[in-house]
Amino acid sequence: MKYCRNCHILYSSAAAACPKCGITEPKADPPAGQKPESRAVRRDWLWILIGVPVLIGVVYLLILLLKSLG
Ligand SMILES: [Zn+2]
Repeated sequence: MKYCRNCHILYSSAAAACPKCGITEPKADPPAGQKPESRAVRRDWLWILIGVPVLIGVVYLLILLLKSLG
């Protein structure tokens, strides 16, 4: 059985919408993963924290390589 919050009646769970008003049952949000965007931002910061020193290191190695060649 489904419950219509608009009409306050119970109707068949086989019905897609309330037979009285036609409003479909609102889907409940899953409790897990409430803020996925904050986790994505944290992952971006992790990539910046890893990527910037690596980039500096690569540039430094390229300069050393060019100096040794030249
Ligand atoms: Zn209804």
